[in-house]
Amino acid sequence: MAHYLCEKCGKVIDSNELLGLPGIRCPSCGHRILYKARSQIVHEIKSH
Ligand SMILES: [Zn+2]
Repeated sequence: MAHYLCEKCGKVIDSNELLGLPGIRCPSCGHRILYKARSQIVHEIKSH
């Protein structure tokens, strides 16, 4: 799953959020320049 980062406000946007929009833009501030963020590797330590 891809993530994008808004150049202006720094909001992290899920690619699924962009699907519902007419174009690629930040759903928060409306800025059109988004960086493609690298997928974060989250290490989840599960304890009993
Ligand atoms: Zn923004």
